[in-house]
Amino acid sequence: MLKQLLSILILFLSISAFSQEVEQCGHTAYMEYLESINPGIKQNMDATFKQALAQSKIKTKTSQDTIHTIQVVFHIVYNTAQHNLSDDLITSQLRVLNECYTRTNPDTINTRDIFKPVAGDAGIRFVLATRDPSGITTNGIVRVQTALTAFGSSPTSLAMTDRVKQTAYGSEAWDTDKYLNIWVCDLSSRGRDGLLGYAYPPTGVDNWPGTSSFATADKQGVVLHYKIVGENNPSSLATGEKTAVHEVGHYLGLRHIWGDGGCTVDDYMEDTPLASAANQNCYPSINSCYSAQPDDLPDMIENYMDYTPGKCQNMFTQQQVAQMRANLTIFRTTIFSTYIPVPPAVIATLRKLGILNFPPPIKCPFGVFSSTLTNEVFVSLGELPEDDASQYVIKFFTPLGQVVHEATLSNEAYQAVNGMTGLHGAFIYQLTKNGDEIAKGKVVLGF
Ligand SMILES: [Zn+2]
Repeated sequence: MLKQLLSILILFLSISAFSQEVEQCGHTAYMEYLESINPGIKQNMDATFKQALAQSKIKTKTSQDTIHTIQVVFHIVYNTAQHNLSDDLITSQLRVLNECYTRTNPDTINTRDIFKPVAGDAGIRFVLATRDPSGITTNGIVRVQTALTAFGSSPTSLAMTDRVKQTAYGSEAWDTDKYLNIWVCDLSSRGRDGLLGYAYPPTGVDNWPGTSSFATADKQGVVLHYKIVGENNPSSLATGEKTAVHEVGHYLGLRHIWGDGGCTVDDYMEDTPLASAANQNCYPSINSCYSAQPDDLPDMIENYMDYTPGKCQNMFTQQQVAQMRANLTIFRTTIFSTYIPVPPAVIATLRKLGILNFPPPIKCPFGVFSSTLTNEVFVSLGELPEDDASQYVIKFFTPLGQVVHEATLSNEAYQAVNGMTGLHGAFIYQLTKNGDEIAKGKVVLGF
């Protein structure tokens, strides 16, 4: 019994000891916490990181051109109305993630010239889930009220904050192999903002001994403080909506740009300069490892994996991008779908040359027409009576029968089906009139 009490005490101490300093990102502390409940997981994460690192150095044009799409569910766990962020804030956060992971954010113009050549486009898209794990239609935002006024504690305990992932206090993860789960809650402690977010990095290196290091699927995902989610969040803390970009970076296997150590410790990314510690200001002249290495470039305060305010964060490097993509294709293989986008200019040229005969001529026969190039689907209902009041609905299923899209059509002879842009692959469609099937077939989208 004494032995058990001692081990509980040691476990408690090991969980709380690392968190004496307040860190805005709990990534490193979270790895320690996961280690305490899953011995071996830290080593597994290191091995996982190194395997992806080796892969990230093998660049091929094709591997960089594909777009990876990840479906996301936001769990808004609130105690007061203030925590219960609006749909607008959530969708603006998603847009910022998409901009930063495709390097289309407007502030890329602020990347300094010395770093422009190494800036990278991750080619990763995030879409709100349209179906929950049971196949029920959803907007990808779950709202759960909690009796807890806040999830933070002093000193910070990630065992306490992780309660946001339990039904008793928060919202349980959706299948973490299929969805990126992002929990939003109050991470403050006694009214103080310290921890702004943390994430679960990939694990799963081949032939790893034992199974304990894998037993945490229910915790996978990202946790964010409600004050830093979305653009123009009324609380407006300095790191703002770029915090989510940082935490998703950890989820996809990136480390802090200063390597969580001094100038002798690296983040293993060859295109990020050394840094002695986290930067929390936008000072462009800072070069914290200059004395250790006189040819060192200034600290990359633009990098999302630093602690700098969001207004000066605007880039990942090419190797960081390659590392995240390698992690996806080796360790998070079920979380994304992939397609190779066709540049709009190529589609326009093909249409001009008459090679791409899509959309088809207006007077096409009854049926459903799709273009694998443009991801468009058109429905022709044929000759319709002028006062037709029937209800036409089209549904798209995966080959396994899961509904992925449903649209009620207007009573027009010929029309496009909206909302198909996120779908890539082979689908079964079913067209119904007043509930009765009138057509069924296959469409292939997005290649
Ligand atoms: Zn971090």
